[in-house]
Amino acid sequence: MPKPKVSTDWMCGCAGCHMSLLDMDERIVQVLELADLRSSPITDLKEPDEGGVDVGVLEGGINNTSNEEVAHRMRKRCKILVALGDCAVFGGVPAMRNFFSLEDSLRRAYIETESTDAEGKIPDDPEIMRPTRVRAVQDVVPVDIFVPGCPPDADTIFYVLSELAQGRKPDLTGNKLHWH
Ligand code: SF4
Repeated sequence: MPKPKVSTDWMCGCAGCHMSLLDMDERIVQVLELADLRSSPITDLKEPDEGGVDVGVLEGGINNTSNEEVAHRMRKRCKILVALGDCAVFGGVPAMRNFFSLEDSLRRAYIETESTDAEGKIPDDPEIMRPTRVRAVQDVVPVDIFVPGCPPDADTIFYVLSELAQGRKPDLTGNKLHWH
């Protein structure tokens, strides 16, 4: 029987959730024995298989049109979508930007910051993504499993991935798991 395929990707986050995934240390070998890790920021494949994967994992919220494409592509190509970490589940720290207008945020980031040399410029090339409000993954595509935490700890991620790889839905209720 082929191993279930797993893909992961990141959007508006800090990479900390993927670092926590790597923090499971040698247990990653157990995960790889159970699952076929396909596209991921930590592998060479950068997009989930066109033919689909069993489990898709998304880190980070959605704060621009490129993130939207990543979320839609993963949702379209996976059977079970996991929102990993507070940014993916709630919008997280980046969602603080929603208290300000997009124009104010861009002006602050590209023109007013103390580290901006000379005259700053807000990028406006039509080929680059457009920023949007910061949203949780479920605000853009349906999510099947929510794994909060900033980041969720390695034990939790190992539990979730190993359960899914064995065809079980992880039980994230109760106090057997510890969130940071
Ligand atoms: S949930 Fe925390 S660790 Fe994960 S991407 Fe967001 S800020 Fe980083």
